[in-house]
Amino acid sequence: MAHRMWKHTCGCDRSYIAWGSEKCPRCGKPGEFAGWSRSVVEMMGHSERRTGYPLFTDQTEYGWRHYGADRYGLPPLKHECAKCGGSGLLDIGNGQDYKSCDQCHGDGGLPNYPPDVMNKYQQMALELRARDLDARSGGSGGRSKP
Ligand SMILES: [Zn+2]
Ligand SMILES: [Zn+2]
Repeated sequence: MAHRMWKHTCGCDRSYIAWGSEKCPRCGKPGEFAGWSRSVVEMMGHSERRTGYPLFTDQTEYGWRHYGADRYGLPPLKHECAKCGGSGLLDIGNGQDYKSCDQCHGDGGLPNYPPDVMNKYQQMALELRARDLDARSGGSGGRSKP
């Protein structure tokens, strides 16, 4: 499920792009169609497909924290698709409808490496993540030297 985005230039709100509302909620002036966007939940899965790495989620005392494996200094496995600008969606008839981008098959990203290399990096990401979690949960004085 994708949402239309509208650009509001009436100046009522500081944010230019409004999600899913064609008219400005304050003055009712119609905005300008600004393309398609996926829902937040989809965006999370989407970012995963876009970077090629799993998205890790931790619960902290401040709430949920999401981060990709790029945090571990691994190279990006994909690059942004130029045709759809990374959204994975192409507009049909100026907001009438949308379709999945045929260049990236709706991923928003195109692979930088052959599948076996990508697999290796994804595996490395999971191992680094596991080590990271170990280091944090074994926080009984930090005595984790071999
Ligand atoms: Zn307005
Ligand atoms: Zn694309």
